[in-house]
Amino acid sequence: MWLSEIMLQQTTVPTVIGYFDTFLSRWPDVHALAAAPLDDVLHAWAGLGYYARARNLHRCAQVVSRDLAGRFPDTEEALQALPGIGPYTAAAIAAIAFGRPATVVDGNVERVMARLHAVVEPLPGAKRQIVALADALTPSSRPGDYAQAVMDLGATVCTPRAPSCDQCPWADACQARAQGIAASLPRKAPKKPRPLRYGVAFWAARKDGAVLLRRRPEKGLLGGMIELPGSDWRDNGWTKNAALGEAPCAASWRRLPGEVRHVFTHFELLMTVYVADVDGRRVSSDGFWSLPSGFSNHALPTMTKKVVRRVLDAGDQST
Ligand code: SF4
Repeated sequence: MWLSEIMLQQTTVPTVIGYFDTFLSRWPDVHALAAAPLDDVLHAWAGLGYYARARNLHRCAQVVSRDLAGRFPDTEEALQALPGIGPYTAAAIAAIAFGRPATVVDGNVERVMARLHAVVEPLPGAKRQIVALADALTPSSRPGDYAQAVMDLGATVCTPRAPSCDQCPWADACQARAQGIAASLPRKAPKKPRPLRYGVAFWAARKDGAVLLRRRPEKGLLGGMIELPGSDWRDNGWTKNAALGEAPCAASWRRLPGEVRHVFTHFELLMTVYVADVDGRRVSSDGFWSLPSGFSNHALPTMTKKVVRRVLDAGDQST
């Protein structure tokens, strides 16, 4: 259950099913996952995004395996002390796996509560009020079944655009339905536009076809994943001179036309790509070489895969 909850954050069930099956067959219990190299876990996670979750999943497995004899704690508080387990996941595990009267509030529950009580204040400001309202309704008997029932109600009956109020067991009590405003709730504060950032990636190829890769720092976005060497991502674009100052070695770098665009949660990235034959040159020491046919053995994030695809499609893997 823990694995499915972590995987399902920010993602849908159809996307997760294949990953879930793979994880369970490779690492059937928490001890096996704890003993796995982080690289293997990140690699198996590649494509699900939000890689901090995979690192935390691995760290959490290690804590549970090593310090807790493989048993998860059964209270919200103790669960939240584990890596990668936030308030929602802790409540869901406590209620559903251990029968604790924890209040589980996901997007579906948020919507049902906002409508049931006609909360017109927009999210995220209304979050506390909605959690308090949900808390007041959580029963002490069968809290796990109740939590799943309300989430299911939100997913199947109290749907975002056109709620099926005539099939809803709470229809008589629902204030938004009575006021005719159900479909407009919950209100949301307008989103800020995503800022744009600019980066440079370098495809440094040897004559035998091997390409320079490197590992990102463990901390931070895409931590521990494998990428092409490149620049920081900054708010203003890169001139050719500034970009080449970030290259892993001096060479006849040639820019591919256009940019590679990738959307992260909080910003959008435009990557300029340079390619060069660097055979025999001394390159920065934090990298390693891999043939493109071996890239699938490494945990490449989607953003890097897009850059690789762009270079290979250009059929221009070196100058
Ligand atoms: S009555 Fe309609 S709006 Fe109210 S909780 Fe049920 S489905 Fe949602």
